[in-house]
Parts: sequence; C-alpha cells; structure tokens
Amino acid sequence: MSAIADNLQAVQSRIALAAAAAGRSPDTVRLLAVSKTWPLACILEAAEAGQRAFGENYVQEGIDKIAAITGRNLEWHFIGPLQSNKSRPVAEHFDWVHSIERLKIAERLSAQRPAFLPPLQVCIQVNVSGEASKSGCAPDEAPALCKAIAALPGLRLRGLMAIPEPTDDLAAQRQPFRQLREIYEHIRAAGLPLDTLSMGMSHDLEAAIAEGATIVRIGTAIFGERNYA
Ligand SMILES: *Cc1c(COP(=O)(O)O)cnc(C)c1O
Repeated sequence: MSAIADNLQAVQSRIALAAAAAGRSPDTVRLLAVSKTWPLACILEAAEAGQRAFGENYVQEGIDKIAAITGRNLEWHFIGPLQSNKSRPVAEHFDWVHSIERLKIAERLSAQRPAFLPPLQVCIQVNVSGEASKSGCAPDEAPALCKAIAALPGLRLRGLMAIPEPTDDLAAQRQPFRQLREIYEHIRAAGLPLDTLSMGMSHDLEAAIAEGATIVRIGTAIFGERNYA
C-alpha cells in the first residue's frame, strides 16, 4: 500500500474509534481530504485508495486541479478565505464552499452558479471563541445569515464550519466545537434543515467528533507536513 493509502486507513480508524467513543456510527462522519499545496499525483493516489472528497484553500490552485482531474467522480470543497472578485470560478467549478462569512459573497455565488449544475452546497464559517484567524461571522450573526442564505436559489445551505485555535488539551479543544454545535442546534430549532457540522482537523478530530462533527477536514495526517515555500 502507498503511504497515502496507509495514512487514509489510519485516519479512518481514528474516526471510527472517536465515533464509537461518542456512541455514533462511523458513517455519520465524512472524511474531507485537504489537498492544498499537494500535487495531482497525491490526489490521484488518495483517489485510488477510495477517497472521494477533496478540500482546497486557494482558488487558482483548486480550479487547476479540478480541470486536470476529470472523469473520476471526485467532489471538490472550497475551504479557504474567499474574496468577492474570486467568487465566479468557485461557483463554476466547486461542489461545496465551507467558508462563507458574509451575505454578499453568498449572493454572488448564488447568482454565478451555472443553471446546469446542482446548487452549490454551503456552510457558514463561524468565529467561535478562541478562533486563531479573524475569519467567520460572529456567533450572534449566524442565525440571521443562515436564514438569508437559505433563501438563495443557487445555494443549498448545509451547515456551519469553524477553525478553532490549536491546543493539545482535549477539554479545551472540545469547548469551541461544543459552542458551534449549540449554535447549529439553535438554528435547526428555528426551522432551518441544517445537517452538516464541518469541524476537526488532523490534531483535533477526536474532540470534533465527540461534539458532533459530520465532516472532518484532514490534510497533514493524510498527506504529511505542508511546505509552503
Ligand atoms: C489546511 C486546512 C485544514 C487541514 O488541516 P490539517 O491540520 O493539515 O489537517 C482543514 N481546514 C482548513 C480550513 C484548512 O485551511
């Protein structure tokens, strides 16, 4: 087996253990392989091992990869910061966007989504406590933003995403994930049919699954340490 196939299997085992510990079925947690900075060969290796969903952070890099790999029935998720002037290629080429933080971007993506494609699946990024980046809407803005985005015809609102500050302490890792889940439950109780909590990365997927993650976004544990140089 290739190193990437081995790593995928190891990550799937971590997911299964964490799900079992939380009394959840492992198939309630989807693995998104975050392939930013990694060449096509690595993505193809993961695809050979059965991985379907890939996450990219940079618009040009992502659409170049999507254009280069066709006919494999892969699913592409945009998970990075998105500027308005780069929304069109994302609307035209990706299947999901996890990082929506403003209504204006959502309106552009909706208007730019080609009619021959299914609606773009989207999550709202929320800046929960201890967030490393300044990205995401404020927690108290999330319900109104979700309501407005749910009405856009080119999008299908699926749920919420967050990127908490890295920490090694399991209890500290769980706190922001719990906060995101509580916002999610609140929005569901208000009548929006959300089904996705995109949370958990290589170092904290166990904490995220314990708090209800339905998609974990894993890069390093599959492909290795990234080199941005
Ligand atoms: C890079 C990235 C990941 C993957 O992080 P790892 O620590 O390598 O697993 C997940 N989510 C987002 C938004 C990222 O930018």
